Amino acid sequence: MLSNSRLVHQPHDHRRCISAALTRARDLCAEENLRLTPTRESVLRLLWQSHRPLGAYQLQDQLAKISGKPIAPPTIYRAVEFLLKTGLIHRIASLNAYIGCPFPNSDHSNLFMICTDCGSAAEVAHSSINKLLQSTCEKANFTLQDQSLEIFGLCPNCSLQQQENGGISSADKDHE
Ligand SMILES: [Zn+2]
Ligand SMILES: [Zn+2]
Repeated sequence: MLSNSRLVHQPHDHRRCISAALTRARDLCAEENLRLTPTRESVLRLLWQSHRPLGAYQLQDQLAKISGKPIAPPTIYRAVEFLLKTGLIHRIASLNAYIGCPFPNSDHSNLFMICTDCGSAAEVAHSSINKLLQSTCEKANFTLQDQSLEIFGLCPNCSLQQQENGGISSADKDHE
């Protein structure tokens, strides 16, 4: 099983996530003769500065802030399209947002554990999940082409916090 859930759910320095992600991206682009342009790199950096998926508008906003000039939506979409195609990021369909992939070039399950409280998303790959889906589809004569499993719940931190607060989530507290 591959998973970044332990890292995602413990406090850590995101600069290490960013630099590891950039190293993976540079290696992958060098191998496949692709160009990691400054915009593509900036978008990847933004997606690794937290473990919460970001939508295209958020990416556009944050990139504009960093570069100090307005960014046209097609610039974002082209960079996102490239990063998706190379497997460096994933799209979380239910949130219409993107997240960096911790293990591009590995077998994938496209399973995301999304915390409904803090919004963090961890990725999991497990061969038994894939086998189960494959055999289920075979039994139904359904040709499996693509899969995406987005599951929602509480991450260990938020679950602990809710226990300590007697079941009040931090999202509720914001509105008090
Ligand atoms: Zn992935
Ligand atoms: Zn959480």
